[in-house]
Parts: sequence; C-alpha cells; structure tokens
Amino acid sequence: MKASQIARRSGIEDVRAIPVGYPVKIPIEDLAPEFRPPGDPERVEEENARLEAAQFANRVRAIDLSGVTVVLDAGHGGRDTGAIVEGVQEARQVYDLACRVEALLTRHTKARVVRTVKGQKSCSRSRPEGDSDWQTARVLTTPPYDLEDAIAGVNFRWYLANSVFRRVSREGGSEERTVFVSIHADSLHPAVRGLMVYVPGEKFLRGTYGKSGAPYDSRREVREEPRVSFTRRERIQAEGMSRDLAERIVGAFRATHLPLHDFQPVRQNVIRSGREWVPAILRYNRIPARVLVEVCNLNNPDDRKLLIGATFRDRVARALVSGLVEFYGGRGRDVLTTAGSPRPAEAPEESKRSRDSSR
Ligand SMILES: [Zn+2]
Repeated sequence: MKASQIARRSGIEDVRAIPVGYPVKIPIEDLAPEFRPPGDPERVEEENARLEAAQFANRVRAIDLSGVTVVLDAGHGGRDTGAIVEGVQEARQVYDLACRVEALLTRHTKARVVRTVKGQKSCSRSRPEGDSDWQTARVLTTPPYDLEDAIAGVNFRWYLANSVFRRVSREGGSEERTVFVSIHADSLHPAVRGLMVYVPGEKFLRGTYGKSGAPYDSRREVREEPRVSFTRRERIQAEGMSRDLAERIVGAFRATHLPLHDFQPVRQNVIRSGREWVPAILRYNRIPARVLVEVCNLNNPDDRKLLIGATFRDRVARALVSGLVEFYGGRGRDVLTTAGSPRPAEAPEESKRSRDSSR
C-alpha cells in the first residue's frame, strides 16, 4: 500500500504516532497536482482547468429558490444498506436526512423537490427518530426499481436525474435552476472526520457510457437517452457550477460549526488504492450543478455518535438547505428562520393537479 511505502521511506514505524513537524517524504508524482511545486505541468494544467471552470460559477439569483428544481438523492435504501459500522446503517441515516431536507425546502422555500428514491410511507408519517421508511425505498424510475442491486440502483438514479433535467429544459426551465444533491456518510480512516463534498472533475467526464439489457431496457428513463457523453463546455460548466455549490455547502457547515474534513473538504475525485475516479452518480449525471455530500465519516466514533442523533441530522439538513439558498444568492439563515408556508410536503396527486389547473 502507498501509505505504508511512504511511511517506511520516511522512517515512520507507527503512522498513528507521527510527531508534529516530522518531515514525511512523498514522491512528487504521488502528490495531488495542487500540492506540487509551482510550474509543475500537472499543477499548471489543474490550475488552468480550475480557472476555466470558475467562469461557470452560478450567476442565477433565486433567493427563495423560485423556479429551482432540487433533485434529492438518498444515497442508499431498500436492500442497499450502504456502509454498516457498529450497527449504524448508512442507508437509514441518509434516508432520514433526505426526508428532513425535503421538509425544510418545502416549508421554507419555493423549490420543487424531486426525490430519486422513496419508501412506501411518506416521510412525514414515518417516525421522527431516524426510524424512516428506508427499507421499502425504491428508485422512482418508470417503472420503479426495487434496489435489488446497489450498482443498478446508482445507474437508475442518474438516468432518472437526466430525465428530470430533460423535462425541466423542455418546459423552458433554465439549466442553472436544476441542482442534484446525493447524500451519503463516508467510511474513511477513523482518524478523519467531518463533511466532504465530491464534485465532477472535468477531466474525469470524457467518453461515452450507457447500460443496456435487463433490468435497464424496461425503464422509460433509460430508453429516452440510453447513452450519455458530454461536450467540453458541459464538462467545464459541470465542474465550475458543482464546485460553487459545494463551496456554499461547506460554508454553511462552517457557519454552524458542524464538523468539516480539515483538509480539502471539496474534492473533484475519489482516490482509493492509487485509483482516481468520479462516483458514477456524478460521472454520468447531466445536471450541471451536482454534488455528492459525505455528511460525516461513519468510521469516526465521534461522527458516528453525532449522526445517530436527530439533533445533528436536523442541523445537517439545515446546513444543506442553507448551502442551496446561498448558491442562489440568498441567506440561508434568513430563509430558514421565516415561519414558512404550510405547503404540504407531499400533496396527494389529485389535489396537486386541481391546484395547478386553478392557476
Ligand atoms: Zn454511501
């Protein structure tokens, strides 16, 4: 493993007991480009890519999220439990978080919320104390997918997101008014803790991808656009807008003193065992502003203890909503302290229709 090679080379016997200020020798090629010496070709390339992407920071203002569609993804559910650490199931916690975010958005903003996965009971009827309906959750494709397979579940989520995005564009909505937020909890080294947000790095979005055969062909969202690829402009726009959204979320966590990853909380790719990639849910997703939020690290005992508490999950949900409001030029604090309209979180289909037609 790379870490143990580096430790050996630097004469470190126990990586958990490195004295402060101890010099660690890391080969330049193993450093992420942004930490290389100025002028290093990969660092220059990275810096240029970041500057280019920054031109696509969100310029749309909608302080009450009017006209904004939030595609909200509980990262796991159904048979897909996500990580389980000391009996704490990631799926249960992130499903509850998605319910809370939806409730806050519905109460305090004018955003339209589209969930990617949902259980049979509505969130408001499920128990408040984390006992959410995550076990019956299905991906809401047409027809829905029962989450028999976690990987197919991820693929159906981005197919669904792309379908929502197409529909919004068809209805004349602006691309910048659609956002995608996937909620997870990480399982990293127990020493690290706090929020980490992934964005789709431009250089990871090349090529074409799509699924076919069972169970894919039977879903409308897959048939609408079976394969996905991005133009260079779309890739740069995606990185820029997603990074902007990620920074707002980090800012909102910081403002309310929620734990943050103390080193680089926004990342453009995952690095594990020397491989680098963008999670599939972001990689093939067409919504320009899209983030995968690891709200905390399940392997860290402090984070884990917090996450099972409803108070913490409520604070996290508020910070996520604040981040969204701030992305659209509003002030999260102001929006969340207004009384909010008693707009029902889940109006039955019938009443929704009659309300629409009365306008
Ligand atoms: Zn996860």
